[in-house]
Amino acid sequence: METAVESRPVRLFIGGQWRDASYGKAFEQVSPATGQVIGAVSDGTREDARAAVDAANRARHSSARLSILERAALCHRIADTILARQARLAPELSLEQGKPLPEAIDEINFAAQLFRDAAEYISKLETSLLPAAAGKRIFTLRQPHGVVAVLTPWNYPVGIPSEYLSASFATGNVVVWKPAPTTSMIAARLVECLLEAGLPEGAINLIHGGAVPGEEIVASSGTHAVGFTGSTATGSLIAKHAGAKPLLLELGGNGPTIILDDANLEAAISGTAIGCFTNAGQICQSSERILVTERVHDQVLDGLVSNASRVKLGHPLHEGTTMGPLNNPGVAIKMDSHIRDAVDRGAGVVFGGARAKGQPTDLYYQPTVVDHVSRESLANREETFGPIAPVIVVRDVEDAIAVANSCTLGLCASVYTSDMNAAFNISERLECGVVNVNESAAYWDGRTPFGGWSGKGSGVGRVGGMESIRFMTQIKSVVLDIRDPDGD
Ligand code: NAD
Repeated sequence: METAVESRPVRLFIGGQWRDASYGKAFEQVSPATGQVIGAVSDGTREDARAAVDAANRARHSSARLSILERAALCHRIADTILARQARLAPELSLEQGKPLPEAIDEINFAAQLFRDAAEYISKLETSLLPAAAGKRIFTLRQPHGVVAVLTPWNYPVGIPSEYLSASFATGNVVVWKPAPTTSMIAARLVECLLEAGLPEGAINLIHGGAVPGEEIVASSGTHAVGFTGSTATGSLIAKHAGAKPLLLELGGNGPTIILDDANLEAAISGTAIGCFTNAGQICQSSERILVTERVHDQVLDGLVSNASRVKLGHPLHEGTTMGPLNNPGVAIKMDSHIRDAVDRGAGVVFGGARAKGQPTDLYYQPTVVDHVSRESLANREETFGPIAPVIVVRDVEDAIAVANSCTLGLCASVYTSDMNAAFNISERLECGVVNVNESAAYWDGRTPFGGWSGKGSGVGRVGGMESIRFMTQIKSVVLDIRDPDGD
């Protein structure tokens, strides 16, 4: 039996003050793990969003005046603070988001590393002196945008915001951040880390709530760039509201994992299972479709079933748990509908396929393996974003590439083969932003450019390492006439 967790108030943070939402609105935060109310979150209104944007604008000039070395030092202090608070942050992340404690610890370490990386990259950012006519000198500066609107999802509620926050602060921007409603509490904890590390007043403004404050901070003339990670549907709305502002969109994926006949199947199967079941499959880059020929099909299927049967579904804070509950009912409903659709179109559920019984909430979903999924199925055409391994049979490599590219999304892919020429050729032909060869789809080194393929629905631009620093800055060209007006 679980002990009751006391519900705590979670406020907005505007202009250096924690405060309630205007009109005193709040919503209950319910743990997906226990069903208990764990917080009362101030529900930000349009007025609150405007106040946050105004506060950020009051702070932007002083933040931009910090030297690059001061900003790098600040980012290192933030990393230190996050790590120092890890033991407290990780269980709170698990309880609110649903992921097992070891995954929460990994996420917090990853977030700290992002601040360290931003410090390193900004310290090495060079600008240029350009070729110019006689008597002229032209050089470039990289300067902050000003106020960046940051909107983030719930699947990595510490890691993903840290991608934007680290690059924003390293480059001298200030931020208005709206996290996903279901992970508001851990967002407030991250803000506490920023403050403890000495972030200048007004440089971070936190607005809780949903679409209304979100749209306000995106559309406001007081924000100067937008960083958004979330679904493709919301991303399209964000693009409309952002107008001509610099926009970074990191959206949904439906990643193919192609296992060629010559692959080391043992490694391919375990890597694929990691790609399907880590974070209960709630990863934009997860293995959403497993493409195999009939020649290796049986072996891959058996291996996936055996990996799924070893997943220990349970309370995220219990020792040994390897998969927790889904974060919210919308994900579980989508799992239900994709499995039903696949079966209606001729597929067979060979493992799992339903919500787990006897758990404190109905968000615990069995790890699921579905076989002979048809190409018309939703699981092949759309992102599922849950713990599912849909196996699709292809004729050969050409067919695998065609199925992989037939989707309207194009974020990440994984390819398993022992033929490096094939790996190289397939990598070049896949329409996505990242290809992992002989590596799980879930792997990402945060210094690597990461984002969606142009023209597909997975986003625009790249996060990661120097790419994030570039996005958070704008180039100014300065022309000097150095001729002496009195000279010849
Ligand atoms: P979502 O689009 O529902 O919400 C994302 C954020 O936008 C939240 O903060 C939400 O409150 C806010 N929002 C919702 N409607 C809005 C509106 N009209 N205007 C402004 N803001 C609005 O996404 P989600 O369900 O939180 O996250 C899951 C999605 O995120 C999946 O599709 C996943 O693939 C994607 N994702 C992508 C990446 C990536 O790097 N490409 C990483 C993680 C998650």
